[in-house]
Amino acid sequence: MKLHTQHSVPLAPLHTFRIEVSGRSLIRLEDARQCLDLPVAEDYYVLGGGSNTLFTSDFGTLIVKNELRGIAIEEASDGFSLSVGAGENWHELVTNCLARGINGFENLALIPGTVGAAPVQNIGAYGVEIERYIETVEVWDRTNLEFKTFTKSDCQFAYRSSVFKQNPQRYIITKVNFWLPKNWQPELSYGPLSHLPKTASATDIAAQVIAIRQAKLPDPQELPNAGSFFKNPSLAAADAETLAVKYPALPMFPQVDGTIKLAAGWLIDHLQLKGYAEGAAAVHQNQALVLVNTGNAAGTDVIALAQHIMERVEQEYGVLLEPEVRILDSHGLLTI
Ligand SMILES: Cc1cc2nc3c(=O)[nH]c(=O)nc-3n(C[C@H](O)[C@H](O)[C@H](O)COP(=O)(O)OP(=O)(O)OC[C@H]3O[C@@H](n4cnc5c(N)ncnc54)[C@H](O)[C@@H]3O)c2cc1C
Repeated sequence: MKLHTQHSVPLAPLHTFRIEVSGRSLIRLEDARQCLDLPVAEDYYVLGGGSNTLFTSDFGTLIVKNELRGIAIEEASDGFSLSVGAGENWHELVTNCLARGINGFENLALIPGTVGAAPVQNIGAYGVEIERYIETVEVWDRTNLEFKTFTKSDCQFAYRSSVFKQNPQRYIITKVNFWLPKNWQPELSYGPLSHLPKTASATDIAAQVIAIRQAKLPDPQELPNAGSFFKNPSLAAADAETLAVKYPALPMFPQVDGTIKLAAGWLIDHLQLKGYAEGAAAVHQNQALVLVNTGNAAGTDVIALAQHIMERVEQEYGVLLEPEVRILDSHGLLTI
């Protein structure tokens, strides 16, 4: 299938922050074999559903939009193998699996975006990260110009991170292969799910997750946003202890590596920044970790708002916040 390049593409419909900017050019990838025809000398940005991407200005780099479809399911005596095209919608995959009695993805219901982006930041919610169910990830290696298969350990999964996130210009994920065992156990450790009975079905859990998310998080269709704007920061245990003395109510989550994860939303909320705005970009009224576009925000509004929050958090707590959202200026990834 021949590649077709679109020019002057409005980007507001292609990312959930809906900043009104335009892209110089865009190619839709509908068949993995088309990777062979992608430009080699020219840089490009791989886009899925745009729910973790913020275009802050007109974008001068080619966009390759992943629209690789297809779901193959094989049942074994002890579980299900799923082979899923990277352009499939994540939440549709979750509901599709639940309808067939395939359990495991329920805690990750209603996360927007594509299946191919899920391994990039190792999506996680309500006590589950997607790495738990990933067997292999198939990619096009843009440097060596070859198709490759990553095992789970090759993916170097970590909190909101992976080898794909660490090497943003290197790989196009074309397919994700999952293994969902039949000896499924519900994951109810996360606070808001802990009141569910141990006998809760995967469908019950998904319904609860969806209800909580709908009550808590602004719907990007109604109030454009990209979910959690910042990652939860991790601190050395000694530094966390010092903070705990000053802020006894600050939630802390000990990690297996001995570090302590802090709730970034609490840090922002405690500075009374809910509702704080720069232009038409604001901290959500109910969710301090979510920045929203209240109407025609400019990319510079969102950057100014994010920088203000990062400065205030550093001044108050001595903690550096890192954006979780991929922020792009006219040329490519922007570090703020
Ligand atoms: C309301 C809301 C709630 C959210 N809740 C959560 C949550 O609970 N947990 C969570 O982890 N995230 C959450 N997110 C963030 C987001 O949904 C996830 O990060 C999702 O996986 C992004 O998918 P996408 O296709 O939209 O990615 P995009 O924004 O299109 O891309 C994200 C990154 O992945 C790269 N990428 C995308 N596709 C590919 C590919 N095929 N190959 C290589 N690189 C690729 C892009 O280059 C970019 O760097 C939320 C977002 C919103 C708007």
